[in-house]
Amino acid sequence: MKLVIVGGVAGGASAAARARRLSEDAEIVVLERGPDVSFANCGLPYYVGGEIAPRDKLLVANPQLLRERFRLDVRTRSSVEAIDRQGKKVRVKELDTGREYDEAYDALILAPGAAPLRPPIPGIDLPNVLTLRNLEDVDRIKARVDAAAKRVVVVGAGFIGLELAENFVKRGVETVVVELQTQVLPPLDQEMTVPIAEAVGDAVEIRDVVTGAAAILRGDSRPAARYRGTQGTSIVGVFDRVAAITGASEKVLSPANVPYRKIYVHQWRQPSTGHLMKRRPSSTCERRRSSPRVTCRGR
Ligand SMILES: Cc1cc2nc3c(=O)[nH]c(=O)nc-3n(C[C@H](O)[C@H](O)[C@H](O)COP(=O)(O)OP(=O)(O)OC[C@H]3O[C@@H](n4cnc5c(N)ncnc54)[C@H](O)[C@@H]3O)c2cc1C
Repeated sequence: MKLVIVGGVAGGASAAARARRLSEDAEIVVLERGPDVSFANCGLPYYVGGEIAPRDKLLVANPQLLRERFRLDVRTRSSVEAIDRQGKKVRVKELDTGREYDEAYDALILAPGAAPLRPPIPGIDLPNVLTLRNLEDVDRIKARVDAAAKRVVVVGAGFIGLELAENFVKRGVETVVVELQTQVLPPLDQEMTVPIAEAVGDAVEIRDVVTGAAAILRGDSRPAARYRGTQGTSIVGVFDRVAAITGASEKVLSPANVPYRKIYVHQWRQPSTGHLMKRRPSSTCERRRSSPRVTCRGR
């Protein structure tokens, strides 16, 4: 059995390690276009901020370790250019030499990830317009910060945009965040984002277990064998605040006509100590699709 995996970072490296555990005899080839495999994308913003250092800490594994520990045939700077499904082979281009060759497979796993969205706006190709996805990207960004960049504009207040913004601020760079939508962290319901902003990832279309709708898989999710659908969960910390969401938000449920309840649970600060206390909600607001009016009950 010969397994070929396209992409060697989060999904690809995990799939390769898992395949080795399932079969000691399989020939497993990992083809990665970039120079690195199995690195911690999630840590990239924190490397810019200096919280993660040295750079090696971003590397979960390197090709040599994967070869020695899992007997994987890892080939970096190797881009898969075409798939011949009938002939069960992929066309591989070695980016350093330009050499091309065919690699046959019995099974093929595609884990090519995603690419940052570069909106088609004037100036998008200027040299100081950068995106963040991999170690090469973060090296470019960090080099500018280390060279005493004074001001940065972060376009997009999603999880990655805000994590980057936080780390630019920590490095003393004047930071402006620009967001097209009316709130930061667009996946969250608006009232969850007033004091904050928070967390998450790609090439897989899944079935949302709450709404039943097709969705893009976010984060490093590994579907179980008895997979019935995916429930998205995100947690993000920005400065001293944390926002978390699991399942579907009101923003998703309402247009999909899925019945839901909405409950606000309040906390309060002890005036004498300033400590945040848990207590029963002072008021509970509920909304259901069948009676869309919000009702608040004092307690
Ligand atoms: C800055 C940042 C922060 C993040 N933080 C979080 C977080 O906190 N929590 C969380 O859950 N998720 C986070 N994510 C998302 C998470 O990193 C991704 O969901 C995850 O990496 C997706 O894994 P993947 O294997 O699908 O893609 P990737 O990890 O991107 O790997 C895909 C690889 O495939 C290679 N490739 C593509 N095409 C080819 C080809 N034709 N031939 C050969 N190789 C190819 C690419 O070079 C790439 O290295 C973050 C992402 C970023 C960029």
